[in-house]
Amino acid sequence: MSTEVKPSLKLQTDLFIGGKFVPSASGKRFTTTNPATGEPIADVAEGGLPDLDQAVAAARQAFESGPWAAMKPRQRGRILMKAAELLLSRADAFGQVETMDNGKPIFEAAKIDMPAAAECLSYFGESADKLYGETHPARPDAMLLTLREPVGVIGAITPWNFPLLQAMWKIAPALALGNTVILKPASATPLTALLFAELLAEAGLPPGAFNVVPGPGAAIGKAMAEHPGVDKISFTGETETGKAILRAAAGTVKRVSMELGGKSPNVVFADADLEAAAKGTINAIFYGKGELCSAGSRLLVEESIHDALMEKVVERARKMAPGDPMNPKTRLGALVSEKQRDTVAGYVEAGKREGAKLLAGGNRASVGGKGAFFEATVFDGVTPQMRIAKEEIFGPVLATLTFKDETEAVAVGNSTIYGLAAAVWTRDVKKALRTARALKAGTVWVNTYNLYDPGLPFGGYKQSGFGRERGFDALREYTQVKSVWVDLT
Ligand code: NDP
Repeated sequence: MSTEVKPSLKLQTDLFIGGKFVPSASGKRFTTTNPATGEPIADVAEGGLPDLDQAVAAARQAFESGPWAAMKPRQRGRILMKAAELLLSRADAFGQVETMDNGKPIFEAAKIDMPAAAECLSYFGESADKLYGETHPARPDAMLLTLREPVGVIGAITPWNFPLLQAMWKIAPALALGNTVILKPASATPLTALLFAELLAEAGLPPGAFNVVPGPGAAIGKAMAEHPGVDKISFTGETETGKAILRAAAGTVKRVSMELGGKSPNVVFADADLEAAAKGTINAIFYGKGELCSAGSRLLVEESIHDALMEKVVERARKMAPGDPMNPKTRLGALVSEKQRDTVAGYVEAGKREGAKLLAGGNRASVGGKGAFFEATVFDGVTPQMRIAKEEIFGPVLATLTFKDETEAVAVGNSTIYGLAAAVWTRDVKKALRTARALKAGTVWVNTYNLYDPGLPFGGYKQSGFGRERGFDALREYTQVKSVWVDLT
């Protein structure tokens, strides 16, 4: 099977600290595995507390003195734009490594994630000198100014579903504003972060400005959140992990931003373009194997079009066969690990037990006799009390609920602890805008799903987190405001 091919880039497997690849102080390593084959890819250095201390010292030094601290914002921006160019030119090779590590289709990794990561770099590269302070015309006897200053050393902790892209939403705005970064990638997918460290150095980033310390979250991530030398934690991952990080960060009153889980409602009204809504529903739940924080995992259908829409959704779901992630035609890859597949299978069992009707999929699958694959799964007849309607599954499992009218659609849409994303399908612009306003979510799509732009902020309402990634809201997250009072008398 083609997933067994060797990566076309030389992998980096040591920690990246102070501009160099170094082994961990303990000498320990952990294996990262290809979930589509179960085969090991590489042994990666496992960072421990002494390594974290070293990374914090390197990042602090780079922040306080040396070329990075002295650099003009526009020069920082040029380095990010150079990195964007390099990443784009290596999108296929980086995408191949991401696919091997994560199991996602090469089409997504090479043609969507890597170009999007490069676009994020160039967007924030262009923004490096564009976040202005203010003057307050309050007093004739003084000039009152605000300065937007970088926060300092940023600890970025990222999940495995979009390993490099998620990291980029933190790295690019943080570096653009002159911060320094220590990245702890997810243990399941550390490889592209290490390759990217090498690429940033090639683009001209001075030593210490960007460091990567892979290692177990419960040890290294927690220590980062507690570390007095780290000024801010930017976290993406599960809501429960986010709560643990908030507690760990409390001791040093660290700044935090949290991108957490979701259970996003995808609301289809009776007057929608049903063909487009069915296609959008499939993209909403099966893109990224459903391992997507913003997955449209709850389909909310107006009763009168239920049968017509479900016929189209099920027909499309049945065509979403799991395939070799390295095949450019594959649209449903392998789940990230056997463990994740067990979690997904557990939810499918819970759905059946609680009385939901299975319309498609529901089974583990394999490709070439191997891999952590799972069928594209559609449940119907789901009620808001069922676990599959309330809890984040993080896999290719759609839960379908019905509603009678707009009021009920909004009530059911808002009936979870999450509020990351939502979508509305209708031809009635007033209804679309009323519903978009009423849904408690950080992003609402109208007649589309899963579209992103580096300039449009993304983040959660409710227990989906706080703080925003992308856009000028992200830039603000990596600055603090200083007020200056200049006496003119
Ligand atoms: P986890 O929360 O398990 O892990 C995320 C990161 O946190 C990993 O690097 C992990 O390390 C680390 N970590 C684990 N425990 C701790 C701890 N106690 N202290 C500090 N760091 C820790 O999430 P997953 O990797 O399983 O990712 C899936 C989750 O991410 C889903 O819930 C999803 O909704 C969410 N997500 C949210 C997004 C958003 O933008 N809102 C986007 C994408 C995903 P290790 O890998 O070593 O365990």
